[in-house]
Amino acid sequence: MGKIMRINLSELKVKVEDMPQEYRGLGGRGLSSHIVGREVPPKADPLGPENKLIFSAGILAGTTVPNTGRLSVGAKSPLTNGVKEANAGGSAAQKIARLGFQAVVIEGRAKELTLLKIDKNGATFTPASSLKGVGNYELIERMKKEYGNKISIVSIGPAGEIKLKAASVMVTTPDFHIRVAARGGLGAVMGSKNLKALVIDDTGSNPVEAKDKAKFREAMGALSKAILADPLGPGFRDIGTPVLVMMINSFGCFPTKNYSLGQFEGAEKISGEYMVELMKKRPNAQPSHRCMDGCIVSCSNVYTDEKGEVIVSGLEYETIGLMGSNCMISDLDCIAHMNRVCNDVGVDTMDIGGAIAVAMEAGLLAWGDGKAALSLVKEIGKSTDRGLMIGNGCKFAGEKLGVKRIPHVKGQCLSAYDPRGLKGLGVTYATSPMGGDHTAGIVLPNPGNPSYNPGSPTGQAAPSQFMQTCMAAMDSLGLCMMAGIPLLDPVPQSSLISCISALTGESLDENYLVNLGTSVLKVERKFNDAAGFTEKDDRLPRFFVEEKLPPSGNVFDVPEKEIDSVNKF
Ligand code: SF4
Repeated sequence: MGKIMRINLSELKVKVEDMPQEYRGLGGRGLSSHIVGREVPPKADPLGPENKLIFSAGILAGTTVPNTGRLSVGAKSPLTNGVKEANAGGSAAQKIARLGFQAVVIEGRAKELTLLKIDKNGATFTPASSLKGVGNYELIERMKKEYGNKISIVSIGPAGEIKLKAASVMVTTPDFHIRVAARGGLGAVMGSKNLKALVIDDTGSNPVEAKDKAKFREAMGALSKAILADPLGPGFRDIGTPVLVMMINSFGCFPTKNYSLGQFEGAEKISGEYMVELMKKRPNAQPSHRCMDGCIVSCSNVYTDEKGEVIVSGLEYETIGLMGSNCMISDLDCIAHMNRVCNDVGVDTMDIGGAIAVAMEAGLLAWGDGKAALSLVKEIGKSTDRGLMIGNGCKFAGEKLGVKRIPHVKGQCLSAYDPRGLKGLGVTYATSPMGGDHTAGIVLPNPGNPSYNPGSPTGQAAPSQFMQTCMAAMDSLGLCMMAGIPLLDPVPQSSLISCISALTGESLDENYLVNLGTSVLKVERKFNDAAGFTEKDDRLPRFFVEEKLPPSGNVFDVPEKEIDSVNKF
């Protein structure tokens, strides 16, 4: 179990502490949510000095277990006003763990824009006024020049500095592409602390060692086999998450025209299969890419232009759904360019895609006009009135423009799955302490469970509760969802528990993951209750209940009583 490094930015002081008893056994989301739950007043201003920003490595981070290097970023969210954890791949969590830390907790507020560097000698602060307003891509190049290429960078763009509600936190991959802890406006919390970037150099450190090495090796072998045996694995490896475009479109749940249609006539042109064919003709493109060392699934990609210049890595399903079909845009290059601008300025592509769609519904720009949409996204970095409106996310933009149909829960734009046809996921959107988000507990049809009907109005609470609990546990381990979901079956799950037990030297029972996930949801729910959330906040917008979704005619009709049975502890 790593230590906790506390950074007091107001006084530029560093304190290293052994893991306090109340946080023992936690990592990733579990640790960040418990710290927020105990140390941040629930009614605190998310952008005020009482809020804390936590960068937490998962329980398995820094080990050789595949796909376990996700970094959890946690705080009270300025977007939802509740507890928030957003996680990203990249190399930061593994480096934090190898330096001996489970979390870096940022407290207070620096007097001026600051850069924090952590290495084996501790932490150092550098004034960073020269980085004011610098985009993430340029920042990465400057940091590499200054500190070499063994580092990982966690940073914000101009959107975080000016505290936009959709501002995100960027994390570099080992080859210096950008992954994003996108959701909930955590980039604005980082900006409110005047922290431009965290640079981590783990030179001279070693992988985290297991207490029982033989048992650990054996369990890890079983885990790797189970991950590689996942029938969905080859699709994710060869096509990446955009493989979902045609699948979700065929379910009639692909968000189109601000969630007014479930199928998009231009779906094929923004599909993963089309993207791969395009990539074959483009120099330097990589349809398959690893966002972290040790990944054995490789669902990411490197999307280039015709000359071979990198536009973005990776171009993901959620971005394609929210910035593509949902805005009626069927041009992958245009979506990739919008994605790049979002990464550079530092905002969440999903909330921004949702904001553009509501702006289209309000008539600010025409449906399908990719050029106008790209130009609007560029306005975020120029801080025009329209840019600031869009940069504050879907709910803010929709309300400002007087749009009635705003697809959000607790202030956060929904993911790229219409809940009228995927009702278990709709229950997750409604009840997750995180606000509308698929990663909080994705529920999809599963060939292993043919009796589950995603369109039935009943029987949705249990699968949502199960997946929310599992995801809270996975996020606490630092485990990527692509590798984590195949481990939910009883046999690989017992190997996973055995692996953690071998790592920590503690004996863990078969309910370990469920108990871990439940404890995380409990502390998050308690925080949100104290922050003022009620059951009224656990609802989808009325239009999902009242409007039939073409072509299926589905509405979201899960009874409120069933919704309210979820996350009640
Ligand atoms: S499967 Fe995808 S998200 Fe997971 S670690 Fe690999 S590249 Fe990253």
